[in-house]
Amino acid sequence: MVRINIFAVLAFVLALFMITFSLPLSFVAYAKDTAADRHFGGEIAISNTGRGSPSIGELSSPSPLSDMGDEDITISVLRADAGISEDMTLREYLRGVLLAEVPYTFDTEALCAMAVAARSYALRKIESGQALHKSGADMCTDYTHCMAFITPCDAKAKWSGFDDETALSKVNEALLKTDGEIMMYGDEIANTVFHAISVDKTASSYEVWGSDIPYLSSVSSPEDESLSGAFMSAEFSKDEFCRRLAKYCDFSDDPYNYVEEYIYSASLRVEKVKICGQYISGTDFRSIFGLRSSRFYIRYADGKFTIDTAGYGHGVGMSQYGANIMAQSGYSYKDILCHYYTGASLRKLSKKVLR
Ligand SMILES: [Zn+2]
Repeated sequence: MVRINIFAVLAFVLALFMITFSLPLSFVAYAKDTAADRHFGGEIAISNTGRGSPSIGELSSPSPLSDMGDEDITISVLRADAGISEDMTLREYLRGVLLAEVPYTFDTEALCAMAVAARSYALRKIESGQALHKSGADMCTDYTHCMAFITPCDAKAKWSGFDDETALSKVNEALLKTDGEIMMYGDEIANTVFHAISVDKTASSYEVWGSDIPYLSSVSSPEDESLSGAFMSAEFSKDEFCRRLAKYCDFSDDPYNYVEEYIYSASLRVEKVKICGQYISGTDFRSIFGLRSSRFYIRYADGKFTIDTAGYGHGVGMSQYGANIMAQSGYSYKDILCHYYTGASLRKLSKKVLR
């Protein structure tokens, strides 16, 4: 369920009232100041009308009262490790997401881009009801289902060398600088998926998921061999290789001839690989071998198969490391977002309607 601060609601109602009855603007300002003092206010739940969600306003909205920030929204987050849900503001949630999803040593503009992408991704999921956790939580901390999340305290205990003071300072700066900003396409929150590393090009949504989403097209990405982790290899014994593919293939005697053909997508990911007469999708092959990406090449020698991969992740949307390279080259977070989500635009949340 999504909740908004009761004073934010009261401020909005007051604004409507005053617009209607032409009350002095100074009173509007007072109402807004009061709404901002959320530490002394209670909250009201509005989830009985369905999954609550904020509506979206233009960045240049004529009324400041229509602006909505991360602290005006409360969501329930299912802690996957403990199995309990916890209410927190969107800002608290995004703080944990940023700490878990990207190194805090990233350039601030890259952290800002990640903040907007994570905010948009979460709100779109909540609004569309895609999350659908059994507990009724809005989001969870399982990165395979929603997004990764870690508290500053847990990060300090888990990661040696984690400088919580610097990390919080940088992450908070990124969240404040982008407060309430999201990516929109038309009148919908954009599905701002992201991944760790692309090499040369991102993948289109069509290549990976078969759905053609205009702002998730393939675009250039600046990572190359100079980036640690961009190219990796994994080794498998011949027996292990055959065992993992046993349900697909009848293997011949000569392992040098197992791999017969690659069919590549436009961004050079493997669309299909033909092994011993059978085609296997690149996505399935990646999953079977736990590869970092579906951009791979298979080699055999000395009783072992070596699978070389380029990139990390599904390859669609924003590349996190690509964003950092762009930021280090002088691009702003707005430049980065508009590059990776071509055709989508940056907007500001508003609270005009709650569905
Ligand atoms: Zn989830």
